[in-house]
Amino acid sequence: MEFKFGGSIANQKTVLGHPSGLFVLFFTEMWERFSYYGMRALLVLFLVSSILDEGWGWERADALVLYAWYTSLVYITPIIGGLIADKVMGYRKAVFWGALIMTLGHLSMAFEVIADPFFFIGLALLILGNGLFKPNISSMVGQLYKTEGKEKDAGYTIFYMGINAGAFLGILLCGYIGEQVGWHYGFGLAGIFMFFGMLQFYYAQSIFGKIGMKPPKTGVFLDDVKGMDRLKEAEEEEEDNPDVVEEEVPAHIVSDRLKVIGIFAFFTIFFWWAFEQAGGSMTIFAKDYTDRVLVDSGAIIFKVVNTLLTVIPLLIITWVLALLFKQTFKKYALSNIFLGTSFAIIWGIVIWVLYRQFNSEALEVPASWFGILNSFFIIAFAPLFSKLWESKYNPSGPVKFAMGLILLGLGFGILAYGSLAIPQGAQVASVSMVFLIAAYLFHTLGELCLSPVGLSYVSKLSPKRLVGMMFGVWFASSALANLLGGLTGSYIDYIVNNYSMAIFFLIFTLIPVGAGIIMLILNRKLLKMMHGIR
Ligand code: GLN
Repeated sequence: MEFKFGGSIANQKTVLGHPSGLFVLFFTEMWERFSYYGMRALLVLFLVSSILDEGWGWERADALVLYAWYTSLVYITPIIGGLIADKVMGYRKAVFWGALIMTLGHLSMAFEVIADPFFFIGLALLILGNGLFKPNISSMVGQLYKTEGKEKDAGYTIFYMGINAGAFLGILLCGYIGEQVGWHYGFGLAGIFMFFGMLQFYYAQSIFGKIGMKPPKTGVFLDDVKGMDRLKEAEEEEEDNPDVVEEEVPAHIVSDRLKVIGIFAFFTIFFWWAFEQAGGSMTIFAKDYTDRVLVDSGAIIFKVVNTLLTVIPLLIITWVLALLFKQTFKKYALSNIFLGTSFAIIWGIVIWVLYRQFNSEALEVPASWFGILNSFFIIAFAPLFSKLWESKYNPSGPVKFAMGLILLGLGFGILAYGSLAIPQGAQVASVSMVFLIAAYLFHTLGELCLSPVGLSYVSKLSPKRLVGMMFGVWFASSALANLLGGLTGSYIDYIVNNYSMAIFFLIFTLIPVGAGIIMLILNRKLLKMMHGIR
């Protein structure tokens, strides 16, 4: 048989034209991001809620500082996690251990009711676990493909849809349960699905064949009988699928390509710096400067839209799940059963939440609601972008990056325009929510041009022996961006008092657009430095 993709025979069966292993990673990443974003949605709210509301009654500023550091540190550890996988344990084990450590982290946070230190131990475990998990699962996606072509870009875009399906459900459900039922239930829910994701990955991993395994000659698996068994199993399945042997390219080509990753990573700092205003200044804008009150038909329309917004993505993901079941159930029954169970629980919770929301009197759109628009738009548009990248309208990597930065800037331009009427120093206003919705749409379109494409290029441009660490470098730029973004956002009041809200958003318009234009200018030079990789 012909091996079109990496991995085992089972991995050659396709789902939506991609290897079925892509969807094993899709769902593992989906549950991990469910936990990450679900917990993150609760973090600040929990800290600032009064003791009476079972929160910790922290000052807003203190909570935001912890948030900035947490969201920064989770993206620093991937450098070490990537290196450990490259040199010591291989990507598969790293993903498994990362998932296990994060499960313990979430559980520990749920025990916050018993004693405060559990909360901080939990955060630390999440930071460590993510370091092992995130760069290495991202790197496994790339290894499913044998060629460095546009197929890989499309594969990463699908994977990115999994990321956001998780983010969407996590924010929605952990957010709701944490706020309405109890904080530790929300934290606990995040942990349960991390656990399901881990089991689903563990019991399906032989689909990856040799991908993500450290070769036994390094001695790593020699004392590990189970590992040896699995490796043997993988080799048997792989008989006819010799891994593509990477040609060792001349040193200057390797170094040029690594430099290109560095340049891409540098430009993403500007992207995430502005983009991550979503959780900070843009949420403040939603809360205090946006008209969120809906009456009569407006309220009914909102309830209907909100229901569709929840049910449609879940239906799409359930359909993908069914496609994966069809291809893999016979061989990986246990993995599929864990995955199916987690979906059954999710549907149950979603129906319960929607029922309660539909019957509530809430005529005011919650400020946090706008945050889910990003994930929704990703799920809605990712298939389109994935097709676009596979078509003849596939621009070069740097051009996609430039498009991403410029679209993001335009999104902030819309907010700046919408804020023109807000007087200097105003503490509140009632700008139409149309601006915020349009801004999220532009931000998301930009994200789809830049973020999954960036992952794909890291995979294509890194020499195999460094791919985990280079993903670490890639995510480290998010660490810096999250920190700087949080700090810049904290100047919102200062800028509104001394200049205006429009000026505040104009900063986030001009800098990304400027960075995008520089990227366009660099396009030809970067293409040369990629030496044939597109
Ligand atoms: N939103 C994406 C994720 O959670 C990308 C985050 C990032 O690279 N900073 O994976």
